Amino acid sequence: MSKNLTTRAEDYSKWYNELVVKADLAENSGVRGCMVIKPYGYAIWEKMQAQLDKMFKETGHENAYFPLFVPKSMFEAEEKNAEGFAKECAIVTHYRLKNDENNPGKLMVDPNAKLEEELIVRPTSEAIIWSTYKGWVQSYRDLPLLINQWANVVRWEMRTRLFLRTAEFLWQEGHTAHATREEAIEESEKMMHVYAEFAQEFMAIPVVKGLKTETERFAGAEETYCIEALMQDGKALQAGTSHFLGQNFAKAFDVKFANKEGKQEYVWGTSWGVSTRLMGALVMTHSDDKGLVLPPNLAPIQVVIVPIYRTEEQFDAISEQVNGLMTELKKLGVSVKFDNRDTQKPGFKFAEWELKGVPVRIAVGPNDLENGTYEVARRDNLSKEVVSKEGIEVYIQNLLKRIQSDLFTNALNYRDSHITEVNSFEEFKEVLETKGGFISAHWDGTAETEEKIKDLTKATIRCIALNRVEEAGSCVLTGNSSNGRVLFAKAY
Ligand code: AMP
Repeated sequence: MSKNLTTRAEDYSKWYNELVVKADLAENSGVRGCMVIKPYGYAIWEKMQAQLDKMFKETGHENAYFPLFVPKSMFEAEEKNAEGFAKECAIVTHYRLKNDENNPGKLMVDPNAKLEEELIVRPTSEAIIWSTYKGWVQSYRDLPLLINQWANVVRWEMRTRLFLRTAEFLWQEGHTAHATREEAIEESEKMMHVYAEFAQEFMAIPVVKGLKTETERFAGAEETYCIEALMQDGKALQAGTSHFLGQNFAKAFDVKFANKEGKQEYVWGTSWGVSTRLMGALVMTHSDDKGLVLPPNLAPIQVVIVPIYRTEEQFDAISEQVNGLMTELKKLGVSVKFDNRDTQKPGFKFAEWELKGVPVRIAVGPNDLENGTYEVARRDNLSKEVVSKEGIEVYIQNLLKRIQSDLFTNALNYRDSHITEVNSFEEFKEVLETKGGFISAHWDGTAETEEKIKDLTKATIRCIALNRVEEAGSCVLTGNSSNGRVLFAKAY
């Protein structure tokens, strides 16, 4: 089965698409740009959701739900935001179909059922949410409002790819309202840190935290914080964003509060989101030519047990012992599956679970029963060892932790060895073409230069890293003065 997988070296992009489909994560649908997320893929997304949701709640947020549709006039209220998303909007104009008299058996849009006002299918929910907040905020006592919503959104993307960029995607969007500028900035920074922690601790993906340039900023935001990850092909991926909205949406929707002195002030806002794109990041960071490699913290199945037997008696003896092991593992919080299908051979099962990225495989045969052992194989580095059954539960528990941390370390080493400082445009182009990754270079701070570099090389400024050192230098393209390096990369 995994024999058919295109290798990364052959064609990285093809490898990714094939893997997503073959590992049963998702498939293309009959709807342009929209995917079907299959149960195995959705199980990973649910694990992501559960952890993120926990982290949002620990930082004081509550979930709510707002409508899918945004009336056009409401959508337009914050002009920059509306303008930024205008080209990607799906619009509902009618609410009824009728039989088409000229085309028996076909339906047509009923011209008499035209909506008085068009509805925009939300590409993001600031407009609908801030129009609601107007009714929720009167005084400083109503603040802060710390709300998150799990939802789907639609952005009419022209070039789509499973998980990474789809026309409809699942995400969470946090929308908060605060009494002061400082508090709102603190909130947007905090959520960037939450995202980074999630990416590193759960996805085992190292990220650069930084600020977007004005060109790359969210439409309607004063500042966009982001986490940027590096994929195995040397391309960057924006993995999450957190926006400081200033008072832009409060002004557009007239959301004011009476401060402690009784004076009316506009509210300060933030919004932040991560999407099913994270699934793409997960696949692209760790997986190999045999299939998925999932970090134990997000794997729907952490351990699979494959019995190796000839006779029914052997199978029964193995099953009895395995049932005991499963109980012990489950007690330790390990999710484990006994692949006791009698319709497939062990070799087939091995390949299938490798393709699906299950972190640990335990094989057990008649010899193991006799010797009191198991064969334990790691999916990440494909190593195998024979382990005594005494205390194996704890051994497995520790192994899962080790795999989680090894995956992160490997990804970190790869990422760190793919941040290259360059000091000339020649060098810039050469590194970009031969090695890829992040290129750390001086930039004169203008949108024109940023645009020109993009035109010449396809590389964009991924972010101004939060931990960058201020240093005087000259712009890699124009030679004009710069006060620090920024990170460029080709990106998904
Ligand atoms: P934004 O609202 O543009 O800041 O995006 C919020 C999050 O959604 C970011 O993490 C983006 O990477 C992600 N995202 C944006 N567009 C898409 C898309 N078409 N498909 C999947 N994820 C997306």
